[in-house]
Amino acid sequence: MSCPVKVLENAELGRYSVADRNINAGEVLFEENPFAIGPKADSFPVCLECCRSVDGNAGGPKCPLCGWPMCEDCSENLNNIVNHKKECALFVENKVKFQNVKDSNASCVQLDCITPLRVLLQKEDQAERWNAEITLMEYHPDARKDTAIWKADQRNVVEYLRGPCGLKDCFSEELIQRVIGILAVNAFEARTNCGSAIRGLYPKLAIMSHSCVPNVVHSIYPSDNYRLVARAAVDVAEGEKLHTTYTYTLYGTSLRQNSLKVGKYFTCHCARCLDPTELGTHFSSLNCERCCNGLIESSNPLDDQADWKCTHCEFTIKGETALKKTQYMQNEVDKVGCLNDGREKLDIYERLLQNFTTILHPLHFINTTIRDNLIQLYGRIPGYRMSELPDTLLERKVELCKDVLKILNVFEPGKSRARAMVLYELHAPIVLLAKSNLSRGKLEVNEFKKKLELAIELLQECATILEWEDSCTSEGILARISKQAALQLKQTRQMFS
Ligand SMILES: [Zn+2]
Ligand SMILES: [Zn+2]
Ligand SMILES: [Zn+2]
Ligand SMILES: [Zn+2]
Repeated sequence: MSCPVKVLENAELGRYSVADRNINAGEVLFEENPFAIGPKADSFPVCLECCRSVDGNAGGPKCPLCGWPMCEDCSENLNNIVNHKKECALFVENKVKFQNVKDSNASCVQLDCITPLRVLLQKEDQAERWNAEITLMEYHPDARKDTAIWKADQRNVVEYLRGPCGLKDCFSEELIQRVIGILAVNAFEARTNCGSAIRGLYPKLAIMSHSCVPNVVHSIYPSDNYRLVARAAVDVAEGEKLHTTYTYTLYGTSLRQNSLKVGKYFTCHCARCLDPTELGTHFSSLNCERCCNGLIESSNPLDDQADWKCTHCEFTIKGETALKKTQYMQNEVDKVGCLNDGREKLDIYERLLQNFTTILHPLHFINTTIRDNLIQLYGRIPGYRMSELPDTLLERKVELCKDVLKILNVFEPGKSRARAMVLYELHAPIVLLAKSNLSRGKLEVNEFKKKLELAIELLQECATILEWEDSCTSEGILARISKQAALQLKQTRQMFS
């Protein structure tokens, strides 16, 4: 089959990708190796080879050559070092020492220079790729220049690399700031084998324009030095734009717009952003305080100052008031996330969901966040393990999963990881309820088998999506568990035929 992606260019979008022919959901669009990978900005101390978090204090593990943070596994395999190799030689040559930190959970500014440095060193080694792929990348110099972040980068990265690291004659201030800008605007998050977040520069993926409803998904393989595979999440017709997402799809419009403006320097005009109902989900809508059927929605979702109006009566509030109200509730939810006791969390989340029923649309993003958290708690915490849940709570878990899926089916449609995870969560309570109802004579054998069939389908869909993930990641492991569980359910089904 021919390459399904074509790159075009126009004044509004710059370079962007479209489908060069009809593409089926799940089809591979392209694969690429990162130009460079490394710690995110504001990272806490991590191993400079594998990026897993390590102690940054005096007793923490260090690279035996340069003394910068490195986990024990990696320092025992110095011959196989890839990511840290070039900077290690540079640190040794210039006697640049890592200053031990007291708090290994705080961001460690010394590491801010690592990823930009790797990009700069790659520029020398892969000049062709630099010219073909990186020089074309957007970095918004005017918007960044002289901001607080720009000044911090000037101090922590530009002056550090040109001073102590001895690169004054190699890289100009401008070039270093440009690389920092390119990373800020274009880098994607990747996860290490142990799940910690790092960033990587993937030029082909970066060409894709953003949408708050992406039709492309990608998997990154930590075991294969962070190779990326991009796939169509849904069927895409020839000529349609291919979209990835640069923000979190489960934020409401105002939050997404802000994260895009601050981090990526643009305003999104996708269909979802322009629609006050967010494609009929009412993901940001508040219930009207005046009438009983109305919803209060922004009159212009791209403008935080625009009035919010009721869909049924004349009631209007200022945009600022609507957002403050939402922010207040969001804060209440965030506070729960910091608690340690799972049971306490579960109780408070359920109570907040109850409290918000009069204020928020049932599928509001805050309610969706709470449901997402509850799905993780029901079945996993002491006293609420799957086998301990009474039928009413199994039904509760089913309902929570279905509500979250209603949202994901719209915002992350098709073969997305987020959907796969919820499909997995949904299968277990369906099976347990079916067994319980069968044993109590509330379910005929035929209906019981139908329920098993449904659970098998959920598991199979989950496995097909998660099979694309690196087998050593938690998603890759879940793919195997899902397949196994589907097999077992098939055997159970056969016992009843
Ligand atoms: Zn390591
Ligand atoms: Zn080293
Ligand atoms: Zn958008
Ligand atoms: Zn009203």
